Order: sequence, then structure tokens, then C-alpha cells
Amino acid sequence: MLIQAAALQSLVADTFTAAGCSAVEGARIARYLVSANLTGHDSHGVIRVPRYVQALKDGNVVADQTIAVLSETDSLAVVDGRFGFGQTVTPQAVELGIAKTRKNGVAVVALRNSGHLGRAGDWAAMAADAGLISIHFVNVAGSLLVAPFGGVDRRISTAPFAIAVPVPGEPHLILDFATSLVAEGKVLVASQGGKKVPEDALITPEGKLTSDPAVLYGPLAGNQRRDPRQGPGAIRTFGEHKGSGLAFFCEILAGALTGGGTAGPAPRKSVTNGMLSVYMAPDFFQSSDRFAEEVRSYVAFYKSSRAATPNDAVLVPGEPESRSRAKRLAEGIPLTEDTWAAISQTALAAGVEPLRISQATLNV
Ligand code: NAD
Repeated sequence: MLIQAAALQSLVADTFTAAGCSAVEGARIARYLVSANLTGHDSHGVIRVPRYVQALKDGNVVADQTIAVLSETDSLAVVDGRFGFGQTVTPQAVELGIAKTRKNGVAVVALRNSGHLGRAGDWAAMAADAGLISIHFVNVAGSLLVAPFGGVDRRISTAPFAIAVPVPGEPHLILDFATSLVAEGKVLVASQGGKKVPEDALITPEGKLTSDPAVLYGPLAGNQRRDPRQGPGAIRTFGEHKGSGLAFFCEILAGALTGGGTAGPAPRKSVTNGMLSVYMAPDFFQSSDRFAEEVRSYVAFYKSSRAATPNDAVLVPGEPESRSRAKRLAEGIPLTEDTWAAISQTALAAGVEPLRISQATLNV
């Protein structure tokens, strides 16, 4: 089914508000989730609504939270997200990074104990909106999902990495990916009848490569909530030893250095994101016009490579997401029946009027 972004966003906002968030927070979470769908990353979109609401109910995430600054210098801050929604506490940490970078040219912000912060690229985009370059190492404390290169046992989280460069007058250049071959949410989408993951994305305890989501979740039944702790196997890292090495350092920087903890093995009550971010103001390095000119010229040179397959083109990081956003804003967001069923059940259980839920699907 297709559903219009605005209608979906408003229903998701109402669901979070009914579940106990303020209207402002509900609207903010909804905006980021729907934005993930718009960029084409359904794994980080509204499919997360049931899990987020459950986390709020279970007390694993706190509504309307404010970060605590644990230590600070002119160009460094260590902050605690205090188990708030990632969509609420992460922008507060990014704001701090932006303010320090504007004064000092560079800043490092270590965020610990954030609820699921969604797409790491959203935070790189937020800094880019402020004219800043940023690099983000993220890990998921307490979430063992991925086997390291050469292994079959889970030792790392899906640990995303993001980097963004703003170019005045152009879409931001944003590289943003999980260091696992696929994000866990993509296996979740596949388990609910959505797009399949690649044949070598998962590994069984015997070392066999597969695309079967049951390797991660255990036996699958209808739209019953998927629990990635139940499966016998693991997701693989991307890029063989290189991706595994990057994931390893995401755990060290975003987990150990921030103080939020690595993916394992210590048992934890809740799963949280840690994020170590480095911000840079281009005009502290050289004339920002000269930098932008050089970047524009390089982007054109990069994209001028002849395509390897006919009717294809070389894209820069961030371009697939901008294209998807334009298409889905115009046509609507595709949702599988299972995903829609899980969202409507969650909305209903939170107290949203049944009519309000069915109306959301009408205006495509
Ligand atoms: P992905 O494999 O789709 O890679 C996306 C990146 O590759 C983007 O920067 C995109 O612009 C670029 N890209 C894709 N195709 C391209 C092409 N043809 N040419 C040029 N560039 C191209 O992403 P993923 O690994 O599935 O991650 C999806 C999302 O999941 C990310 O936003 C990530 O931050 C998020 N994530 C979050 C968590 C968390 O705990 N919060 C954990 C894992 C992943």
C-alpha cells in the first residue's frame, strides 16, 4: 500500500502523544521516522513505531528527556542522553557541537545513553544545515547482532558511521551506513514480506551464508514482534575485514570512549546508542568559498566517470536519498501490509481513534 507522508507523519505523531510523549516530542519523532521512509530507508522509518512505543511502556526509554552535560571544555563535551528518545536527546547534543564549532572551528561531542537515534545521517545533515562538516561514529550498547570478519559468533552491533559535507546551494553530501552488511531493520523489513536482504548478509552458526531472516529472529510467525535475540546466527559486516575493522572502532569510540558501553558482553537493561561526533567549520580551514568551489569541481569530476552499466549513473553519497525523497513525497510511502497492521494496532492500543487511523490511508 501507499500512504502520503503528511498523513502518516500526523498519525505517528498522534500515536506517540497518546503513548505518553508531549505533542512536540511526538511530532519530532514522527518527522524523523517518516523522513527515513522518504529517503528510502524503511528500516529506520515507521516500522519502528511498535518497538519505540513498547520501549516507552517498558520504561526503557524516557519521554521528553534533556541531556546532562557531564564534562565540558571549549571544544569538547561529554553528554548523557539519560535514556531519552534519540530523536530528542541527539539533536540537543548536536546543537552543543554546532555552538562550540562556531566559536572554535572544531568540536568533539561524546553522547552516551541515547535511545535509538535512527539514521546517523540525520545528525550529520543537521550539522550540515548549520554549514558544518561532521563525522559520526555510532554503536548500539547491549545489541549484539553482527559477527566479526572471520567469525560466526555475534560480537558487534550494527554500528553505523556517517559523514557529511555541506556545499552551499547543493544538496548535502552525506555518507551514512551501518557497518553490518545490512542494517538490522532491513532484515526486519524482509521478515515482514518487504525487500529481501542479499544472499550473503547473514551467517548461520555453522558458517553458511544466507538471506533467511529466521537466522536472526528464530522461527517467524505472522506479524508477531521480531526479537533479534532469538535467532541462532548473525548479520555479517560489510566489506570483509575493512568493514569489520570500522565496526570495531565504532564500538571503541562510540561505546568505550563515550562511556555508553560497547555492544557486549556485559548484560544491560536497555539497548542504547552511543555517538562520538567530530564537527569542523570549513571557514576555519580556508576560505569557505574556495573549499566549496573545489568540492563542486570534484563532485562533477567524480560523477563524470562513465557508468559501468547502461542507463545507470555515478551518484555521490546522499544522492540516492534525495532522489527517493522527491519520488516518495510525490507518490506516497510504500508500506507492507504487515507493517501497516503493526502500526495501526500500536496506534489503537495507545488510544488513537479507529476512524483517525483509517483516515490516514485515504488521501493517496
Ligand atoms: P545503505 O547500505 O543503503 O548505504 C547508504 C549510504 O550509501 C548512503 O550514504 C547513500 O547515499 C550511499 N549510497 C547508496 N547507494 C549508492 C550509490 N548507488 N551511489 C552512491 N552512493 C550510494 O545503508 P544501510 O547500511 O542500510 O544503513 C541504513 C541506515 O541505518 C543508515 O541511515 C544508518 O545510520 C542507520 N542505522 C542506524 C543504527 C542505529 O543504531 N541507530 C544502526 C544501524 C544503521
